[in-house]
Amino acid sequence: MKHIRSQEVSSDIVREPGAKQATIKRLIDTTDGADRFVLSLFELKPNGSTPPHYHEWEHEVFILQGTMQLLLPHEKRTVTLQAGDVIFIPRNEPHGFLTGADEACQFLVVAPTERPPIRNYFLSEEAYQFDETASCTAAKN
Ligand code: ZN
Repeated sequence: MKHIRSQEVSSDIVREPGAKQATIKRLIDTTDGADRFVLSLFELKPNGSTPPHYHEWEHEVFILQGTMQLLLPHEKRTVTLQAGDVIFIPRNEPHGFLTGADEACQFLVVAPTERPPIRNYFLSEEAYQFDETASCTAAKN
């Protein structure tokens, strides 16, 4: 059994190409003995994003705090997500997450442990960006 306080888990900067102002806390990971699913807490600070991408595994997402935009490029639409919202991204469905200048968001993601990186296509050539000094007061709304 593992029992932790999420506040005590350190955040890692998301370094996928094109990711901006995004951090991840690996709450339950394969190093804990999880062999089918992992649980991660993501945070997008203001002007943050993960660029649209798709992969052969699904995301199950719960919005804990704040707001953000879910980009669905194939449907050419954007959905506003807020605390309490739940989304399921089926395998191979393109998706991205975005926060505006006055938005921030914390969300939990459940994903399978088997996530072949070669199947995770970020549609961006940009380097990741992270500014430690960026305000995240919007997350407290
Ligand atoms: Zn994804």
